[in-house]
Amino acid sequence: MMHEPELDVLIIGAGFGGIRMLHEARRRGLSARVLEVGNDVGGAWHWNRYPGARTDSESWVYCFGFDKDLQDDWDWPERYPSQPQVQAYLKHVVERFDMHREIELNTRVEAAVFDEGRDLWTVTTESGQRIVCRTVVSATGPLSAPQEPPYPGLADFQGEWYLTARWPHEPVDFAGKRVAVIGTGASGIQVAPLVATVAERLTIFQRTANYVLPARNYVLDDLQRQSIKSRYDEIWEQVSRQAMGMAMNPANRVIGDVTPEQRQRLLEAAWEEGGFRFFLETFDDVFVDPESNGAVSDFIRNKIRTIVKDPATAELLCPKSDHPFGAKRPPLGNFYYEIFNRDNVDLVDVSSNAIDDVTETGIRLADGTELEFDIIIFATGFDALTGALTRIDIRGRGGRSLAEKWQDGPRTHLAMAVDEFPNFFMIAGPQIPFANAPAMIEPAAETIGEAISQLRDKNQTRVEVASEAVEEYNNLLHAFYNATIFPAGAKLRAWWLGTNVEGKTLGVAMNFGGFPNWAASVKAEAAEGFKHYRYSATSHAQLTPAADVKAGADVT
Ligand code: NAP
Repeated sequence: MMHEPELDVLIIGAGFGGIRMLHEARRRGLSARVLEVGNDVGGAWHWNRYPGARTDSESWVYCFGFDKDLQDDWDWPERYPSQPQVQAYLKHVVERFDMHREIELNTRVEAAVFDEGRDLWTVTTESGQRIVCRTVVSATGPLSAPQEPPYPGLADFQGEWYLTARWPHEPVDFAGKRVAVIGTGASGIQVAPLVATVAERLTIFQRTANYVLPARNYVLDDLQRQSIKSRYDEIWEQVSRQAMGMAMNPANRVIGDVTPEQRQRLLEAAWEEGGFRFFLETFDDVFVDPESNGAVSDFIRNKIRTIVKDPATAELLCPKSDHPFGAKRPPLGNFYYEIFNRDNVDLVDVSSNAIDDVTETGIRLADGTELEFDIIIFATGFDALTGALTRIDIRGRGGRSLAEKWQDGPRTHLAMAVDEFPNFFMIAGPQIPFANAPAMIEPAAETIGEAISQLRDKNQTRVEVASEAVEEYNNLLHAFYNATIFPAGAKLRAWWLGTNVEGKTLGVAMNFGGFPNWAASVKAEAAEGFKHYRYSATSHAQLTPAADVKAGADVT
């Protein structure tokens, strides 16, 4: 039986990455389809719809840069768009480019198996649908596999409970309720200030104090929006040169260049400016020089002590001396520390007195203390970077799964490809830079699109990255990592090192070498003819009927 693949590209996920990849495939004349588990597009911005959810990137760089008309016809209302604003933007993009017919919602991918005899993937969904395609591009997102609350007693809890990462569509009524928030990462510190204003009592359970920077969100007026639109070329140019893919300038100074008085003045000004500008526009050595990092860390601790009136609470909120600024991803808060001055907000330190269990009426700590709640919010984080991929049964050459291959931590080429997994690419996969996501998606989609187009142009059926290239990239990532303060995050359970997940092996799952280097390498790969990739053609012209392809089975 002669078969052609049903599709050139099957894309998993309809968030920023999947939508951008679909556009790339279409513009190259490749047949493509997106499978999305959610009932709407948006990815992270579909699921994380908790009150207070908004980006930490400024709106004018948290968008696509591939189409000038798209840029011109979209108005961002605020400096940092809220979850509804980002999702509305992504829906607008899908609408504008008429993408709906190629996006299948409510469809969970369960497995993807590579058929070595025919160089094709068979993708199986939860409902039993099987799709045979030449290539698979996963755009499952780095932070999309939430950790389930690990408390057996939760099933008996008589109140309501929510995961920030799976927030319901219906509004949650906090008025007059006793509410617990567990977790003080970016999600917990965003939801808490809004809950504090309506709940009768809000209790925040903190295990590790974090450095929360003030976001200083503001509404953009007409002139600001007009100015942004007129400067987009300049904005993307800045983004391409900036370490985190943001429209900011490097500080062009290190801590040793200034006097203590100047240092204080610079940090004060940047604190007022808000957002990541606080560290990106002050000193260029914050993540590499312990003295610079120490100055920034102490500055923030002093701010916490200034804002929070109760000295004991302020001390609990101050990150400890073994926690350099940035060793865990610093969140942006909207009046986070300020809520601890309210009478209805308590902080419970669970660093040494852990949460033992959820009871019928609330939370029990290790020392036996029981606290009663009507609502519990779990902002307990994600099986980041690898989780969304290893939860799918993805099997490459030899029937080996990605989960098995990454048992000791992920190893990729430029966060884009994996050896032994031919015709498989990732948009923003593990080992992406610590940077603004939409900026990273752009070069990745272009290069992956080109790699797939070349299969057709060269009349080949298989493309696979060389193991040596993966090895080389990983050596580089380790060198970056070891030259920075980031290793301190391992014992602080930083999600980008995997240590936030029980039993997960420490891996350098992020590239700490900055966005521009990585983007240049991604672009060079295409410009230099994919010298780290091997193209080949199968001698088999026939395609095994999809029903015969089983997970891990050898197909000959
Ligand atoms: P997270 O940063 O991993 O924070 C999880 C929090 O839950 C930590 O405070 C952690 O404590 C706590 N926790 C986990 N298990 C616990 C337990 N058993 N007992 C007590 N505390 C527990 O997760 P996240 O806040 O969801 O953020 C993850 C990432 O998503 C962010 O860093 C960011 O990159 C992204 N994000 C971005 C935005 C934005 O752009 N605005 C918003 C939300 C999320 P420990 O620290 O002690 O482990």
